[in-house]
Amino acid sequence: MTILPEAFVSEMKEILKSDYPLYEESINKDAYRGISVNRLKAEPQELIHMLPFQVSKSPFYRDGYYINTDESGIGKLPLHHAGAFYVQEPSASSAVSLLDVQEGDRVLDLCAAPGGKSAQIASCLNRTGLLWSNEVVKNRAQILLSNFERMGIPNGVVSSCYPDVLCKRLEGAFDKVLVDAPCSGEGMFRKNPEAVGEWSREHVLSCAERQLSILNSAAMAVRDGGILVYSTCTFSYEENEGVVSRFLSEHPEFEMCDISEPFGRKTQLPCAVRITPIEGGEGHFAAKLRRRGEALRGSFFISGKAQSVKDSRMTIAKKELSDIFKDIPEGRYEIAGDKLYIMPEEIPELGGLNVIRAGVLAGEFRKNRFEPAHSLFMSSPPDSFRRVLDLCDADSRVYDFLHGMETDCETENGYTAVLYSGIVMGFGKCSDHRLKNKYPKGLRI
Ligand code: SAM
Repeated sequence: MTILPEAFVSEMKEILKSDYPLYEESINKDAYRGISVNRLKAEPQELIHMLPFQVSKSPFYRDGYYINTDESGIGKLPLHHAGAFYVQEPSASSAVSLLDVQEGDRVLDLCAAPGGKSAQIASCLNRTGLLWSNEVVKNRAQILLSNFERMGIPNGVVSSCYPDVLCKRLEGAFDKVLVDAPCSGEGMFRKNPEAVGEWSREHVLSCAERQLSILNSAAMAVRDGGILVYSTCTFSYEENEGVVSRFLSEHPEFEMCDISEPFGRKTQLPCAVRITPIEGGEGHFAAKLRRRGEALRGSFFISGKAQSVKDSRMTIAKKELSDIFKDIPEGRYEIAGDKLYIMPEEIPELGGLNVIRAGVLAGEFRKNRFEPAHSLFMSSPPDSFRRVLDLCDADSRVYDFLHGMETDCETENGYTAVLYSGIVMGFGKCSDHRLKNKYPKGLRI
């Protein structure tokens, strides 16, 4: 049974007023669990019928669902390996609803690991525009990259920079910026009861200082007329309304946006919502701000369609790519060392920033060969390949493949995309009806 700290109880009574007893009643009940569907891989209506558990629609995001199952086994499902969905606490999806991402937007997700909100943004961008996801903590940035690859995000950048360094360099570059800030995590008490013991007023106040500093940096990256969404998974006034009010008083160039989202509870600010277990989520706060001014886009993006790289190795790569794909993927090809990348159509100068991935890693040059990469297959539509091995639930080769084993294969010889019920989950190389497994070792089950 969870015993809440007294100072936290007073804070919650102040925020929830006469609803407080409902919150107290909820604290020893099960936490809400959820998923968000990745439309780069599957249509929500099709996916929910393929899942081996029941789902019901959540109010927080167009493609968000409650699940009624323990999360532990979900990571082993083929649909999860294929990136068809992301396991996400239902109310955590609300911030991207406020961000209102449209196709073609340039979006910065400044505190992005492990990548739940980036996955939502990429799904909304639908292979257009640009998603720049940043995570300052290096090992968390690697987890972010791995989720980027699993979700098959083609038009993205993953970096690991301090917010002030990154946002100064990318001043005015983004239509939309999300700051999902590190916080005291009061909305995680049911999911992670140990967090209750770690809670203190001092921590809340120190989080608020850090959040304001991140938000001040984020402001630089928003173009005139652009949107800045600030979110946390905590309830406290200081980390939420307090940070937003202090930010607005220091930044008259920003204004509040009126929001009319059909979820959450009203806050002391017209531009923000708070979600507690009473409203059907574990806990989130999100506020929407706008930089005043004309809707002008940053002008320093390099652009270039299907530009050719002057490197003799491109001939080898193109030969292999035209054997894999019906049409060679469009984009700006770049070679760095032994690696070939397909860059987003428009991208800022990257020099001097700690960028760990820009665009899609298409493959590597090994001696006189080009070896395609897992990310190339994951980010390409199933109908773009010349050869596919489409497996379904009843086929034991699904798990053989995810275990890294060699399997039978009906296709012609050559690199072959491996699909699970029509969704790409990896690739192999077919030779005489046997598929040599290319599923990355670190991802195998
Ligand atoms: N948006 C993520 C998602 O949906 O999966 C969750 C982000 S989490 C709430 C906040 C992130 O901020 C963490 O990954 C943490 O490592 C990072 N962080 C910690 N200190 C930071 C700082 N000083 N500046 C920027 N980010 C920081």
